[in-house]
Amino acid sequence: MFVALAAQSRGLRVALFEPQADTPNNLAISGGLVPMAGSALQSAAGVQDSPQAWLHDLRRFAPGMVNENIAESVAMALPAAGAFLHQHCAAPLRFLPDMVAPGHGQQRFHSVQPASGQALHQWLRQAVRSAPGVSWFDCSAEVERSSAGFELNGPHGRLQAMQLVLAGGGFGANADMVARYIPGMAGALHNGSATNNGSTIALGLRWGAQLWGMDGYQGQGHTNPGGATRLGMGIPSLGGILVNREGLRFVAEDIGPSALAPAVLAQSGGAALEIFDQTIEDQLGNHSAYQQARQAGCVLGAQTLPELAAVAGVDPVALQRTLGEVAACAQGQADPLGRRSFARVLSAPFKASWVTGALSHTQGGLLTDAVGRVLHENGQPIDRVFAVGGCAAGLSGRGADGYLPGNGLAQAFGLGWRVSQALG
Ligand SMILES: Cc1cc2nc3c(=O)[nH]c(=O)nc-3n(C[C@H](O)[C@H](O)[C@H](O)COP(=O)(O)OP(=O)(O)OC[C@H]3O[C@@H](n4cnc5c(N)ncnc54)[C@H](O)[C@@H]3O)c2cc1C
Repeated sequence: MFVALAAQSRGLRVALFEPQADTPNNLAISGGLVPMAGSALQSAAGVQDSPQAWLHDLRRFAPGMVNENIAESVAMALPAAGAFLHQHCAAPLRFLPDMVAPGHGQQRFHSVQPASGQALHQWLRQAVRSAPGVSWFDCSAEVERSSAGFELNGPHGRLQAMQLVLAGGGFGANADMVARYIPGMAGALHNGSATNNGSTIALGLRWGAQLWGMDGYQGQGHTNPGGATRLGMGIPSLGGILVNREGLRFVAEDIGPSALAPAVLAQSGGAALEIFDQTIEDQLGNHSAYQQARQAGCVLGAQTLPELAAVAGVDPVALQRTLGEVAACAQGQADPLGRRSFARVLSAPFKASWVTGALSHTQGGLLTDAVGRVLHENGQPIDRVFAVGGCAAGLSGRGADGYLPGNGLAQAFGLGWRVSQALG
């Protein structure tokens, strides 16, 4: 949708095919938080940042795993994508100064108001539906090569297009592909959209496209069991911890929500208790994911630690000891699990929520060059075929560890901007 909006603003005529408009896609399910390092909104808020600083964080977070075909191009495009949305389209985009994310050296997330993927999706969809240069088709199309470029056949009839942009999302909902490319997450909870079925990756493969980073994914270690809600990524940065049913910590909780997913899944019952306190909850007013989890009744409260252990069903003696150790770490003692910052000593009243590890979205896909042209196995661009978002290779491959928060939408909007400028 973003590519359609930006391309039509350059005078191009765009036909957009969306067969599953009634099912929330990954954008609508997501937190809707986009890292736009170096944006005008960020600098107006007095925050010094730059595309280079984000690139530095990305490479430090995922050494040797970054998709260098697109990383710099995406970084440099994000401020322009933000300016297009905010200034040209009057999108209610804002900088979120209170959003701290693991792995980022600076506050650099942006969202619409309210801060949620649902609101961003709704705004984008409305903008695209009313854009004069976009024809929207509520169906999919069979695509064939033709002398003009492509022929698209479907319930709408037959249509000729000079260029094709694949933007159908990743393969998180395709159990066969997950088992093949990410066997460690086969059968795990998928909290992304059922529309991410790998169909547009298959289309690119038909023309000999090269795949990249197929084992990379965004895990989500703060997902409430069942997958309908999640806590969001902010609680560890504010001082929260995770314990297993035995009342023991098992991970440096601030490694990031993605890498946390397999660590949580490895605990008994594939679950852990995320513990925080009222002071932390008071700082999560802007975090739509947390507010939804709270409203869904997924957050427990207790005045004392023994009461918390009883309502959650974890070992009370071990929990008391664990919280004592955490308090010592918050006051400067080294953490045996390697966590560097605990922010503060947790205090009553306590809050907690059971979480599990989920697969949110896949990062691997069709390898592109810096402007989104899909590359053939022979390394050359496939004539007139572009890809962006989940069906294109993401910013970081290899397991859950390489996923720096925000990589999904950074690629969708950054590479999307590049594609919209390269078409024509
Ligand atoms: C729980 C969760 C939380 C997330 N939070 C964040 C976050 O806060 N920040 C961040 O950066 N990223 C986040 N992400 C990742 C982000 O949502 C994705 O990276 C991004 O939405 C990918 O964009 P997309 O357009 O490729 O996919 P989608 O948003 O899923 O859109 C793809 C669209 O293609 C359509 N489609 C599918 N097949 C076809 C076909 N054959 N023909 C035509 N159309 C087709 C679908 O109906 C769908 O509407 C999150 C993801 C999840 C699941």
